Amino acid sequence: MTPQQNVSLRRFNTLDLEARAAAFVTVHNEDDLLQALHWAKKRKLPVVPLGEGSNVVLAGDLEALVLHQQSKGREVLAREGNSVLLRIAAGEGWHDLVGWCLAAGYHGLENLALIPGTVGAAPVQNIGAYGVELASIIRCVHARSLVDGSLLRLDNAQCEFGYRDSVFKHRLKEAVVITAVEFELRVSPCTHTEYPSLKQYLRDHCQPKPTPRDVYEAVVSLRSARLPDPRQEPNAGSFFKNPVLSERSFEELKILAHDVPGFPQAGGAMKVPAGWLIDRCGWKGRRQKNQGVHNEHALVLVNYGNRSGADLLAFAAEIRDSVERTYGVTLEIEPTCYGQST
Ligand SMILES: Cc1cc2nc3c(=O)[nH]c(=O)nc-3n(C[C@H](O)[C@H](O)[C@H](O)COP(=O)(O)OP(=O)(O)OC[C@H]3O[C@@H](n4cnc5c(N)ncnc54)[C@H](O)[C@@H]3O)c2cc1C
Repeated sequence: MTPQQNVSLRRFNTLDLEARAAAFVTVHNEDDLLQALHWAKKRKLPVVPLGEGSNVVLAGDLEALVLHQQSKGREVLAREGNSVLLRIAAGEGWHDLVGWCLAAGYHGLENLALIPGTVGAAPVQNIGAYGVELASIIRCVHARSLVDGSLLRLDNAQCEFGYRDSVFKHRLKEAVVITAVEFELRVSPCTHTEYPSLKQYLRDHCQPKPTPRDVYEAVVSLRSARLPDPRQEPNAGSFFKNPVLSERSFEELKILAHDVPGFPQAGGAMKVPAGWLIDRCGWKGRRQKNQGVHNEHALVLVNYGNRSGADLLAFAAEIRDSVERTYGVTLEIEPTCYGQST
């Protein structure tokens, strides 16, 4: 296991941006990982873990050892009553895991079908879709310190999960590499069908009591019809988080945009669709040089041939400034940015 040096990361990020890593290594197991950490320590290089690169913006070269997690393994740790405990290695593909669990009769992941990426990256931003967040299913996360190689086990509370957020984006950012995740799933069929578009789809296409497979197929169908495939239109999914506003800020926003949708959150806060605000500011479908906002998804920025992440971030800043000027709401970028401050 010797890392390669000066490696292009273009095929390792779904935005198809050009950036180079000072060093790059694929790790398949604990031995590879320990050797890689030792190699980086000797050269005083920081280490950046990377999965499928579906939630990063590479805005410059990385003076780091990029650690491409490819470790595999799915283990049933325990089965008790209605629950099953699984330990899944970080390099497993997320969507493959969802399909495998469904086939095995382990339920709870169906709403998260077809989200790109690896299992190891999923807790980093607490992936969520169609009314379910990963935080509701995770028992604990296993990781290794990038500083001294020691092992860590973080239980659900220690992961400090929030909306598209966790401790891995803050205190533990670039401090650990996640090696495995434990999930607690249900053995008896259970479904989450309250999310409006999912509910409507199931009402139109399924029997009155949808099964977990119905939910899985509905999510796959809804996502395939709606979301641009990064292989055809390079993107990183939602580029901005949906802002969560206090009750007062939401009332102020309603004065400027009386029909703005709001989804109630704990403590009276309101989540507002960032895509709605971007659309209202006239950005949907707009192209600037080789980048643009998708025609049908105002939240998705598409790279039409631009190689520079810095240019893409400048474009995103224009959108953010225009929403702020018009509605007084500050949008936050969802993917993790490297190589340039935002
Ligand atoms: C078309 C499309 C649709 C999407 N839809 C959704 C959606 O519905 N819901 C949603 O939540 N997200 C969505 N995403 C975002 C993305 O799929 C998720 O964030 C996913 O978990 C990223 O996985 P990855 O392996 O590609 O991570 P990467 O992009 O490789 O990495 C993301 C971050 O996690 C860190 N990281 C990666 N692996 C590890 C590890 N093993 N240990 C420590 N840190 C690590 C990286 O350093 C980086 O900071 C979408 C993206 C695309 C392109």
